Amino acid sequence: MRFSHFGSRFMQDSGVIQLMDDLGDALRQPGMIMLGGGNPARIPQMESYFSARMAQMLETGEFADLISVYDAPEGNYALREALAGLLQRECGWPVTPEHIALTNGSQTGFFYLFNLLGGNLTDGRRGRILLPVTPEYIGYADVGIEPDLFVARRPQIEIQERPFFKYRLDFDALAIDDGVSAICVSRPTNPTGNVLTGEELTRLSALARSHELPLIIDNAYGWPFPNILYVDDVMPWEPHVIMCLSLSKLGLPGARTGIIVADPAIIRGAKGMNALISLAPNSLGAALTLDAIRSGEILRLAQEVIQPHYQAKADQAVQWLSDALDDVEFYIHRPEGAFFLWLWFKGLPISSQELYERLKAQGVIVLSGHHFFPGLTGTWAHRHECIRINYAGDPAIVQAGIERIAAEVRRAWGK
Ligand code: PLP
Repeated sequence: MRFSHFGSRFMQDSGVIQLMDDLGDALRQPGMIMLGGGNPARIPQMESYFSARMAQMLETGEFADLISVYDAPEGNYALREALAGLLQRECGWPVTPEHIALTNGSQTGFFYLFNLLGGNLTDGRRGRILLPVTPEYIGYADVGIEPDLFVARRPQIEIQERPFFKYRLDFDALAIDDGVSAICVSRPTNPTGNVLTGEELTRLSALARSHELPLIIDNAYGWPFPNILYVDDVMPWEPHVIMCLSLSKLGLPGARTGIIVADPAIIRGAKGMNALISLAPNSLGAALTLDAIRSGEILRLAQEVIQPHYQAKADQAVQWLSDALDDVEFYIHRPEGAFFLWLWFKGLPISSQELYERLKAQGVIVLSGHHFFPGLTGTWAHRHECIRINYAGDPAIVQAGIERIAAEVRRAWGK
């Protein structure tokens, strides 16, 4: 059988697929402690909210209506209208339903956006997506139909009070040349929990505007929902900004619903891709959240239920790590949002991949940090000194995982 270059990338070559396979194999071993994946927490209040809404849909017959028709290719109109209203009212964004498209998860949205804006452009040039700060979300790597879709920059490292550090966007290193056709940043960032400051974002946005480039902001964890943010934040929307939201981190990853808020020209592209690739996006996430978005209840849930739930987990995980590694030189990226801790073992005698392997042998799955630098060229020891852990899971399991990580790190340093 012969396959296309594009097809074969999905079958064997992608680093992300290999990583997922490796994680899947490890998980089949009983008793494994999983701190590696991207699953959100199971929050009882959110589960009861969505279960009650589902029961109501079954009772009123809405569910039968929902499953018997395809939605519009740009996504459910009622949801887009309610969301535009919420974003206007609460965020001050001048958007209408024509500025909104739904996709089957925001991951699918990124596949659309990167391939709409990068690759072989209609003017004959080759367009690349600039990631101004790496480490950056691993899910971007390998989604380009054309290879080498990303160019990336290193951040500056700011050491803060023990045990924290923070990545800062290095504007001096951000030369934007003709090859760049869009800029993208996740905020809060997966894997680091970094939230670019308001000042950094304003400057980046002005730079994008002055170069007539779209700025894609991956807001899967941020404001106004799910609001997994530990710093105060508001964000403006402007026509060159492509804001990507998701219902996943509200507790609905299985409903596969992503949201793109952008200039109507971009929305037309996403609509066409939805139509050709899947006819229409999934309707379930829209139905489960419509009332909460229409009434604004979603903001209350985000602020009063989701945010404090993760804040407590973040504080607790930092405390456990600080206690377990009090005599080791290590840093944690200041957790400002999302639900990951990014640990930096400066000068670690073994690579982060070797640490991952040793931890796997000890029954703990983390992610080696070197995966999170899509598009970054050149050697940089820092790439091999970090790991990511997800602290959203059961506290007893997270604590047990952290203790084993600490023991393995001490062993690596001969302590
Ligand atoms: N963007 C970021 C930064 C993520 O961490 C994730 C998932 O973990 C996604 C996008 C994709 O989320 P989904 O496709 O579930 O909306």
